[in-house]
Amino acid sequence: MNNSSSMRIAIVGGGPAGLTLARILQNYNVTCTVFELDKTPDRRDQGGSIDLHRNGGQQALREAGLLEEFRRVARPEGEALKLIKYDGTVVLDENVAGSRRPEEHADRPEVDRTKLRQLLLDSLQPNTVIWDKKLVSVAASTSIPGRYDLHFQDSVEEGFDLVVGADGAWSRVRNFLTEQKPSYSGVTGIELWALEVDKRHQWLGEFVGAGSCFMFDEGRAIQCQRDGENRIRVYVGVRQPEDWINTCGIDWASPEEAKKALLDRYFNDCAPDLKRAVLDANDQLIPRQMWMLPIGMRWETHPGVTLVGDAAHLMTPFAGVGVNLAMLDAMDLAKAVIGCAGDASRLPDAIRQYEEVMWERAEQNARKTEKGLIGHFSADGIDEMARRLQGR
Ligand SMILES: Cc1cc2nc3c(=O)[nH]c(=O)nc-3n(C[C@H](O)[C@H](O)[C@H](O)COP(=O)(O)OP(=O)(O)OC[C@H]3O[C@@H](n4cnc5c(N)ncnc54)[C@H](O)[C@@H]3O)c2cc1C
Repeated sequence: MNNSSSMRIAIVGGGPAGLTLARILQNYNVTCTVFELDKTPDRRDQGGSIDLHRNGGQQALREAGLLEEFRRVARPEGEALKLIKYDGTVVLDENVAGSRRPEEHADRPEVDRTKLRQLLLDSLQPNTVIWDKKLVSVAASTSIPGRYDLHFQDSVEEGFDLVVGADGAWSRVRNFLTEQKPSYSGVTGIELWALEVDKRHQWLGEFVGAGSCFMFDEGRAIQCQRDGENRIRVYVGVRQPEDWINTCGIDWASPEEAKKALLDRYFNDCAPDLKRAVLDANDQLIPRQMWMLPIGMRWETHPGVTLVGDAAHLMTPFAGVGVNLAMLDAMDLAKAVIGCAGDASRLPDAIRQYEEVMWERAEQNARKTEKGLIGHFSADGIDEMARRLQGR
């Protein structure tokens, strides 16, 4: 279908949402430019493995014509889950022969974020992404009424009909639409890395299995996850106040001492294997607060500016839906823009229709995520998850 467009479209942010949107638009000959803060594609660690759901990220990739390419880099074995209580009792282990979930429920293969980003980047026309462009603010155009200018740290790009904020948790585009900001979720995570698992962390590799190993308990959690680069990330979560990282007295600059203090204070009664998993992951330590936008957040629709993904509905990762929603948003917005057939006067209606669907879906998933957050940090959370998986 030829839908050659005279609209000027800017997508701010080259994460899963922004790149999926660009790809689907280009499939329909709609021209767009992605402005990305990273200096180069491999400048920054993109984070751990993510699972793309059949009715989520995979659906968007099908629309983008990239499902086959995705299957080549996906890791279905990464779905294997092991659930363990604080005292070491294993309540579920899908690594054990015969305990994998039935094929029809094995619909969420893992993929490394770097591989997903590369797959999307490779699918775009040359020079679609302009790197090293940090957006500071969006403003109504001073020269062309009804259009928008992008103010970057080092330049101004003028005259866009549509600006899409795909710029994640701390979106600058969002500031144009609403004053709402993320708030602290009540949980802080300490991210630990184990590199070269096969060579240097064999015990941890066997303990975790092919995918993920989770322990949830009242106010605390340990989550270990493999990626396809022979690495395991261990996330130690604690329910603590917002300023805890700085006021708890743990010296994060001395990782080994910090981990011992963390274990002594919050995980002392846990099984030795769980503590060993934390101590064994000794290649990197990064403390992170977890943030979220208000559940059901909406804003007054604006004719030429909108948001996709975390910029629109940041949630904690405790339902594992964020990237899937981001890519569905991208798919829906792309369809809405393509439907305008290059006529910018149709954009306001298209944006309104997209936002209604996106807001509703985001609210439902934010509620699910809130339940997940409570479950991950409650005493019966692990049994509850095991029951749910076994029920399937
Ligand atoms: C620990 C953890 C585990 C997770 N696990 C899962 C999971 O298993 N499954 C799942 O579905 N989701 C998961 N998520 C959530 C998922 O990572 C996000 O929902 C997803 O990355 C959102 O995609 P996005 O494209 O909207 O934003 P992002 O991935 O944040 O991308 C935003 C992009 O915008 C760029 N940018 C930011 N600011 C600017 C600026 N000012 N100017 C220009 N560019 C800018 C950034 O560099 C980045 O490239 C997890 C999140 C965390 C923190």
